[in-house]
Amino acid sequence: MVERLLVTGGNGFLGSYLVEKALNQGFEVVVVDDLSTSSCINVPKDAKFVRCKVEEFSDDTRYDFVAHFAARPSPEDYMKHPVETMLSNSLGTLRTLEIAKRSNAVYLYASSSEVYGDASVIPTPEDYFGYVNPVGVRSCYDEGKRFSEALCMAYHRQFGLDVRIERPFNVYGPRMRADGVYGRVIPRFLSQALAGKELTVHGDGNQTRSFLFVHDWLEATWTLLTKPGLSAQVVNIGSPNEVKILELAKLVIKVTKSSSKIVFLPPRPEDPRRRAADITRARSLLSWEPRTSLEEGLKTTAEWLSRAS
Ligand code: UDP
Repeated sequence: MVERLLVTGGNGFLGSYLVEKALNQGFEVVVVDDLSTSSCINVPKDAKFVRCKVEEFSDDTRYDFVAHFAARPSPEDYMKHPVETMLSNSLGTLRTLEIAKRSNAVYLYASSSEVYGDASVIPTPEDYFGYVNPVGVRSCYDEGKRFSEALCMAYHRQFGLDVRIERPFNVYGPRMRADGVYGRVIPRFLSQALAGKELTVHGDGNQTRSFLFVHDWLEATWTLLTKPGLSAQVVNIGSPNEVKILELAKLVIKVTKSSSKIVFLPPRPEDPRRRAADITRARSLLSWEPRTSLEEGLKTTAEWLSRAS
């Protein structure tokens, strides 16, 4: 029998890779997306596309798998839309958990390394509870993700639903938007470097992130979604390789052979100072680890951006 997968946010950066993989594996795929952060349609014609806010979506179809990816992950964007940001990761999570419960589906929740907030344990393991300001400017995103994780666990404990939670850490690659408030740091720096413009480092550039290439992310996510016996597991999907944002800017200039200069802008409010993933759990549960170096991933993304522009 053909397996059926629902992907919310399936037109987005991460969701679109999951959709493509599932179609290649012979799944039937339904995508729900309101296109609120999209600049183009990525849904392949073999998938069914429903344009709708996830918190308003209803459906009697039976699914084998439900993956909830609808979110506004870019800080500058979600700070402008805190209410929408919270709704897709509260009411939207409730809606999709109900659909999964009715179908007795496996439910995959795309959480975020943001649940750790300004972490004091680096690299951060899953059992670090986080240091998050519940009323700060990032709270619409962080607390939405934290609430959703708690709701997933509530559905697991009360109804026995097979839920799996991933916490991706700064995934990047082709298809990511580089423009305006949607541009996360890698596509933004790459497009600035390719255009010969100044690279805009916020603060002193000593803040860190660890970056994961999207193909590596997809491999881990597919295993987390489909491998039997992973109910109630919470897994970091990221890289332990901690990089300063200023070093990233210099590496981008190097791989693009750009003559761009670096300019320093005011720091972003509540920008976490350090972030890197402890992936011990992903290594053992998913037999996985990242394979793409940052330099290689940056080159591939730069090539895509040059072709796309
Ligand atoms: N950043 C930067 N310049 C930019 C965009 C981002 O210096 O033009 C920094 C930002 O301050 C943060 C890091 O890069 O420390 C990652 O930002 P991003 O927007 O990619 O996402 P975050 O990891 O904060 O959610």
